[in-house]
Amino acid sequence: MRGRTLLLNPGPVVLSDRVRAALAAGDACHREPEFAALTKEVLGRLRDVYPHSGRLHAAVLLAGSGTCAVEAMLATLTPRDRITLVVSNGVYGDRMAAMLRAHGKPVSELSFPWLEGIDLEAVEARLQEEPAISYVASVHHETTTGRLNDIAGLGRLCRTYDRPLLLDAVSSFGAESVDVDAWNVAALAGTANKCLHGAPGPCFVLARTDLLEADIPDVTSVYLDLRRYYGIQRDSGYSPFTPAVNSVYALREALLELDEGGGWKSRQARYQERSERVTACLRDTGVDTLLPVESYSCVLRSYRLPQAISYQSLHDRLREQDIVIYGGQGDLGGDIFRVACMGEISDEDMNRLLRALKDCLGRTRP
Ligand SMILES: *Cc1c(COP(=O)(O)O)cnc(C)c1O
Repeated sequence: MRGRTLLLNPGPVVLSDRVRAALAAGDACHREPEFAALTKEVLGRLRDVYPHSGRLHAAVLLAGSGTCAVEAMLATLTPRDRITLVVSNGVYGDRMAAMLRAHGKPVSELSFPWLEGIDLEAVEARLQEEPAISYVASVHHETTTGRLNDIAGLGRLCRTYDRPLLLDAVSSFGAESVDVDAWNVAALAGTANKCLHGAPGPCFVLARTDLLEADIPDVTSVYLDLRRYYGIQRDSGYSPFTPAVNSVYALREALLELDEGGGWKSRQARYQERSERVTACLRDTGVDTLLPVESYSCVLRSYRLPQAISYQSLHDRLREQDIVIYGGQGDLGGDIFRVACMGEISDEDMNRLLRALKDCLGRTRP
């Protein structure tokens, strides 16, 4: 058995003992009624993570990583004869555009610099210029930098211009405020193994039921056709293909724990406190955040790597102490490191992390 490794990467996360135990609780066949009942329970609990919105939405459970849920959402819902506008300021926004292209669907990309937020005026201008835009797609928490995008603002535009929003909420669902009704969200994608604290395996899409029930001629995938899952899961709890069985059991325990712990708002407060402690500790060693602190989600922050140390050596020294942090992606590769605060992290873990960061970075100061 691997020892206790403190995972501060943006998923998968450290599991609680209860969630881990559910993974090993026994073998199960997904074609038996117990599993169908479990699936229905999990679908209901996913929808109820945000109890005050989404009464027109239903959850659909798939097997795959977060990317699978995003791709299923785009492959199923976006049209082949009208444009989807992708509003992007990082790796995950760009990935949505790449998916649409791979599925042969018309896409118009509005990209902003990674260190900047979404320019709502530019979005509005594009919506006015291009009447062929049918959907808008964007990322809630852009994990590339840790920025929490202004989806409330983007959603307002989507309402005003009557363009439904498709949201990558993979690294925010369960810990940041989500209001699918106010934001005109047609569907959002999420995963078990980030803010929900489940094990890797299941991912999900929360989508408007009228869209899932509609006869859409534009679906460009068999495995990722959400309507196929939705119909069967709603009626019977079964799935058309083999689910991530053990991890669905674990996801139920994780959702129960979320609920018992006070729901997403408590989780947000806990992450926020952890993130602030990490930032304060790093400031003491002369390490600055990449973005202004108010731009960040509670989930993850990015930091400028000091000249005197490479990411690899910082990573390796922390890894020797069973701590895993994350590097930068794309153009930010050599310049930053990232620290996520998701998962079953104790005060003791936090103290251990802060000591280790001080130890590794304190000595890099000129
Ligand atoms: C983690 C993440 C994903 C999905 O990544 P997977 O490796 O497929 O789980 C998608 N979008 C965002 C914003 C993410 O942080």
